[in-house]
Amino acid sequence: MSDNGTDCLFCQIVAGDLPADVVATTDRVVAFRDIDPKAPVHVLVVPREHHGDVSVLAAADPTLLAEVVEVADTVAHDLADGQYRFIFNSGPRAGQSVFHVHGHVLAGTQLGWSPA
Ligand code: ADP
Repeated sequence: MSDNGTDCLFCQIVAGDLPADVVATTDRVVAFRDIDPKAPVHVLVVPREHHGDVSVLAAADPTLLAEVVEVADTVAHDLADGQYRFIFNSGPRAGQSVFHVHGHVLAGTQLGWSPA
């Protein structure tokens, strides 16, 4: 973990210093709608604690990663029909642009598949 709180967009959202459309919270996890949705339901699920990407989180705190997955599943059932994709972009070549680990919940439509 390296907490760069003031520089990190998602740390600022978690702290309530930047507005976000929050749809679910736990003591350790926050879920909020993506500002540029790619599906009718597009929610980002983040740990409150700063970890750069899913590899770092998996190594540092697998229990917290499991809680992120659990919240994603709850959101997909609450906001859609429970059929969803949950993806982590890990590293710039995978398309990651915000370096506070976040999973994308995509749901609410028939999803395509052409990531490359
Ligand atoms: P990409 O930008 O290629 O999707 P990421 O996997 O790092 O890469 O995803 C970052 C996501 O954060 C994007 O889907 C983007 O729309 C979203 N985002 C950026 N700023 C905000 C914000 N202020 N509130 C909600 N979502 C945001």
